[in-house]
Amino acid sequence: MSSSLTLIEKLAREELVDMVPYQSARRLFSHGNANGASGDTKQTTPKVWLNANEAPGKGEYQLSSDNINRYPDFQPDNLLNAYSEYCGLERSQILATRGADEGIELIIRSFCRAYRDSILVCPPTYGMYAISAENHGAGIVKAPLQSSDQGMQLNLDALTSQVGKVKVVFLCSPGNPTGNLLAKADIISAIELFKDSAIVVVDEAYIEFSPEQTSLDLLAQYDNVVLLRTLSKAFALAGLRCGFTLASKDIITLLSKVIAPYPISAPVAEIASKALSTDLDEMSQRVQTCNNSKATLSTWLNEREWCSEVFDSDANFILFRCINTHEKKRIFDTLVDKNILIRDQSKQMQLENCLRISIGSEHEITQLKEALS
Ligand SMILES: *Cc1c(COP(=O)(O)O)cnc(C)c1O
Repeated sequence: MSSSLTLIEKLAREELVDMVPYQSARRLFSHGNANGASGDTKQTTPKVWLNANEAPGKGEYQLSSDNINRYPDFQPDNLLNAYSEYCGLERSQILATRGADEGIELIIRSFCRAYRDSILVCPPTYGMYAISAENHGAGIVKAPLQSSDQGMQLNLDALTSQVGKVKVVFLCSPGNPTGNLLAKADIISAIELFKDSAIVVVDEAYIEFSPEQTSLDLLAQYDNVVLLRTLSKAFALAGLRCGFTLASKDIITLLSKVIAPYPISAPVAEIASKALSTDLDEMSQRVQTCNNSKATLSTWLNEREWCSEVFDSDANFILFRCINTHEKKRIFDTLVDKNILIRDQSKQMQLENCLRISIGSEHEITQLKEALS
């Protein structure tokens, strides 16, 4: 085989050659190409995107380009002040990043030595933890969540058996794709288990949908805690690419050595600061509307004969299980035929025959129900 390797395959890090990149909802359907390659630009019917947990509707933003000839600040003042005000932490405990995804990557690069250290994930969970680890050459250890009849909570025994073997533990609460919050007492137990040996990251990408459940208060009590936040979900700004890593001053100082010198562009800082200050009421309203719509959709799904389980959700999406593989495929394909895209989660551990619907606008959810009736 080696004679057929291209120059790039020979030069590249070997493990990257066969690596499959993150199959984002966008890549899966871009230009109607299942592989996500973007050669084909033909216009198709507009799609109803209910597969990436984005918020419906769009804000209106004006941009000033006054200083666009200058590099932005490493951490723009307007943005850091706005997030500090929003979350109640000092600026020294906040790092603005290109989405929460960059936070994940920075944490792994800062704490895991390539080919020596490992992260721990609790599947079914968000795919980027493992992708970032793989990219960096960090190992991946799994401590699966408990089954859905036990509430998809942490398995503390499984976590205990990994103490000393991993450097970073990723917890996701509310979880993606499961939707449920992890019990705060269990999050605290996990932090205590790893308090001398690993960083515990609590990914709060969806915390605005149940804000009182945040783990923010734990930052003051433990040195090994990091929180991840984003503007991509409740703030309806997925296209902006802006997230936040919240941690001790020492951890933020460390991550600042690894992040690019100008991660946040001036237009991003400008739009994000507005979203985090004058537009906060709009965000709360959006969350309220989403939570109502979610309750209605959940009831509707529970009444379908093809649906055997609807997972509790504290986020902006609903995960449900179909009675069998045939029905799962039928539901998914029926929707694709009508240009309505949801996410197939059935390949994830414990999620056989499960699909995930993002709570779009009322109109979009009505279209989905009609397509399935
Ligand atoms: C969407 C999501 C992210 C990534 O958010 P970005 O800020 O868009 O990079 C991180 N974690 C979870 C659990 C998510 O669902």
